[in-house]
Amino acid sequence: MNISQTAPVKTFKRVHFEAALKSIAKLANTTEHSPLGPVQEFELLRECGALEVVLPGNALDFNTPNTPALLELLKDVGKANLSVGRIFEGHINTLYLIHLYGNTQQKEKWYNGVKENGDLFGIWNTQGADGININCNHESYIISGSKTFCSGASLVNKALITGNIKTAQNEGWQMLIVDMEKISDENIDRESWKPLGMKASGSFKVNFSGYNFKDCDLLGQPGIYLNQPHFSGGAIRFAAVQLGGAEAIMESTIEYLKALNRTEDPFQQLRISRICSEVTTGNLWLRQSGRYYDEWVIDYTRTQDLIAFANMTRVNIEESCLKVMEESNRCVGARGLMAPYPLERIFRDLSFYLRQPAPDATRLKIAEFFIQNPGGFND
Ligand SMILES: Cc1cc2nc3c(=O)[nH]c(=O)nc-3n(C[C@H](O)[C@H](O)[C@H](O)COP(=O)(O)OP(=O)(O)OC[C@H]3O[C@@H](n4cnc5c(N)ncnc54)[C@H](O)[C@@H]3O)c2cc1C
Repeated sequence: MNISQTAPVKTFKRVHFEAALKSIAKLANTTEHSPLGPVQEFELLRECGALEVVLPGNALDFNTPNTPALLELLKDVGKANLSVGRIFEGHINTLYLIHLYGNTQQKEKWYNGVKENGDLFGIWNTQGADGININCNHESYIISGSKTFCSGASLVNKALITGNIKTAQNEGWQMLIVDMEKISDENIDRESWKPLGMKASGSFKVNFSGYNFKDCDLLGQPGIYLNQPHFSGGAIRFAAVQLGGAEAIMESTIEYLKALNRTEDPFQQLRISRICSEVTTGNLWLRQSGRYYDEWVIDYTRTQDLIAFANMTRVNIEESCLKVMEESNRCVGARGLMAPYPLERIFRDLSFYLRQPAPDATRLKIAEFFIQNPGGFND
């Protein structure tokens, strides 16, 4: 079922959002095995106004400095279900790129799609050897090639994809918005997604060959997708979703130990202390990265600072999530890691979702920044 087929979007209210998250968390174990994916979850997010929360005039309008609150929101969705968090983050990320690079008509068209039709966006940059080429065909363009890791491929009705364009005027890595209703179901390879975790994200391979589109669907100029600090700075958003998974593990671990009357044991308390410290560390990184993002994104002299801090936030949250899983694993033991306990799934989801692009290169860039700026961030 397509999300755009239901009623218009409502204004965002925190209390409705929290109720939606409770339902999403309850659905998670069932949704993992549903071939349709998290359809109901996105209806819930849509009904509480979360899909349009960043649009002009709304609670987390991108035109105002709201990044700490946005990161909190992403974390909350990730805490309820990491797969839903991944798809939701892609939707927010696409709206941000439209906010940054869309022209007036494009903003009006794509924002209205979210407001009036409940459109859900995906963002797919990753590809294999058979990646995307955009060829000019008289007045229009035609695509050849495929994308991999297309989260929400069978659920989203609009997708931002990237590919190589070469025309007389344009050359480089180009963004465009694809209408997924024009992509045949046969082009979505469901057999391509047999992951350890994050099954419900349905991150299938999609073949876009033969898709036709016009100039008005090209977003920004070639190369702009990689513009800094937005490209690297965006890592704080997926880190927020990941940290939500660590918070879910923290809460489920304590709940499990309480149910077994094991919280008085000093060894368990030691591990709980470590888990809670790591989650707190992650939250401190996340909150500060949100504050710095708002302050530094409008100050070009702080571009390198913003990138370095976002890189550090991402890798530190990754480390914290890994430590939380290690300690929780020992706390709950084999029985606690079996279904129907939620930890069985959350461990798989978080382990898999932590694998994001260029983890080693990100650490090298952090070192490079401090080697060049031994004084750090000079606040
Ligand atoms: C659940 C999930 C959903 C996703 N959804 C989307 C999506 O919607 N859209 C999208 O565009 N992408 C998506 N991705 C893809 C994601 O952005 C990354 O591209 C992907 O996770 C990186 O995969 P990898 O770990 O196999 O990378 P790799 O690059 O293979 O990295 C694995 C390891 O190899 C190292 N390494 C990398 N290159 C080299 C080299 N040349 N020599 C030696 N070592 C190397 C890395 O540092 C790392 O340690 C998703 C990923 C996941 C896990």
